[in-house]
Amino acid sequence: AAEREKTGVALGRTVTNPVNGEQIPVFVADYVLMEYGTGAIMAVPAHDERDYAFAKAFDLPIRRVIEGDNPDGDDDGLPYGGDGALVNSAAQFDGRPNRDALNEIVVWLESEGKGKLAVNYRLRDWLISRQRYWGCPIPIVRCAECGIVPVPNDQLPVLLPVIEDYAPKGQSPLAAATDWVNTECPNCGGPAERETDTMDTFVDSSWYFLRYCDASNSEAAWDPAILREWMPVDQYIGGVEHAILHLLYARFFCKALADLGHLDVDEPFARLFTQGMITRDGAKMSKSRGNVVSPQAIVDRYGADSARAYILFIGAPDQDADWSDEGVEGVHRFLSRLWRLSAEVSDQDVAGAPQGDEAANLELIRKANWAIDKVTGDMDRRFAFNTAIAAVMELINEVSRLRESAGLEAQQFALETASSLCFPFAPHVTTDAYHLLTGGRLWEQPWPTADAAMLERDSYELVCQVNGKVRDRVEVASDASREELEAAAMAAPNVQVHLEGRVPKKVIVVPGKLVNIVVG
Ligand SMILES: [Zn+2]
Repeated sequence: AAEREKTGVALGRTVTNPVNGEQIPVFVADYVLMEYGTGAIMAVPAHDERDYAFAKAFDLPIRRVIEGDNPDGDDDGLPYGGDGALVNSAAQFDGRPNRDALNEIVVWLESEGKGKLAVNYRLRDWLISRQRYWGCPIPIVRCAECGIVPVPNDQLPVLLPVIEDYAPKGQSPLAAATDWVNTECPNCGGPAERETDTMDTFVDSSWYFLRYCDASNSEAAWDPAILREWMPVDQYIGGVEHAILHLLYARFFCKALADLGHLDVDEPFARLFTQGMITRDGAKMSKSRGNVVSPQAIVDRYGADSARAYILFIGAPDQDADWSDEGVEGVHRFLSRLWRLSAEVSDQDVAGAPQGDEAANLELIRKANWAIDKVTGDMDRRFAFNTAIAAVMELINEVSRLRESAGLEAQQFALETASSLCFPFAPHVTTDAYHLLTGGRLWEQPWPTADAAMLERDSYELVCQVNGKVRDRVEVASDASREELEAAAMAAPNVQVHLEGRVPKKVIVVPGKLVNIVVG
């Protein structure tokens, strides 16, 4: 650790620094981590806290090679762990920012035959055997005559024996199952013993997705043709805690299997999504803290629809979010309102109902189309269920706001759309609302598609005509005035060509569509 007094033993020998030929003293020291690289390191006392403390303790030279100040350091501002310009280096590198010079230094080392670029993983060797019952048996037997013998293919898989007592007693739990342990050597037929350790469950999680593709195969782990069809996994979803060991092991397995010719892909997962964690009052939920929210209690009080919709609404799925009881109530009120409005609309007769104000109808239909577009986009790949649900909430707010002015048909369309869009989150209440509105079964309906013409956009393509012939198209702001549209059309390059300098006799502007310039 950094704070402990540094101890070490000088070996009384030196090694040659391959870069500049200087002699460097060699020490054995316990602050160096065995797992780090080969366990033999080149100390850099000016720029590493622990190396600095060691050099101080043993009165070793401390040579600065990067400029920069450590305000908590010594009079020279050392040890300095930040970036900066190189100093006391070779002439061609002095003054260069250290990060920028990295590649050049590597190139130089390679050209001098003194080193090469390499990637090192800070990962230790993996001991896969465990002294527990619940694991995959290691298919190995030990024979006094033949030594370690793998169980042949026709005797695989080795199944776990049924045992009464799973507790280890100084040896693996399986060792107690003597009937199972004592077996015949597959090689010489003599007495042999099975391996009693089981495999680390990381072994199983490293390739279960391959087996899932062909789970009923009793002849082999998988049929390569089937894996060719299914692999790689399109989308992996998991907690960030899997991103280090499990996913690395899984990739390692796949690359090894690909190298061995058992697999056509060497990357198992095409896309990775790591979801956030739901906390309560900022703390991780745990039984020991007693701050766990029971989904059952929420389901009992508000129903499964509200429980599910709230969990999805609580925040961006890739971020942590804090649980709020008020939030559940808010989502519950929204779903209740969706149902109540649907019930009210379904009570009225569309045929005899007033047509409503045309502008209000258009506004509501546009809003519904906006919601279709928004929810579809949010759910597709982004998994942004929270903003998807928020969009349906906006739509329901619009139905409420325009209840007096919009016609029944437009309201019905908006509510049907809201039910369809919320069906994945709240299937029960939306199915009922949809049935009230249409008499149909929501789960039999296709996912709604937005009418592109109804989508309000920030800008649109204005058709520019000269004497009724389309000569150009320009992108204009949706809220551009008639004057701005006319100016944009007049300035369009190909319109200019066809005007040939003539002054327009008349300009017809149709906002949202076109400008027609009439010349003599
Ligand atoms: Zn044998």
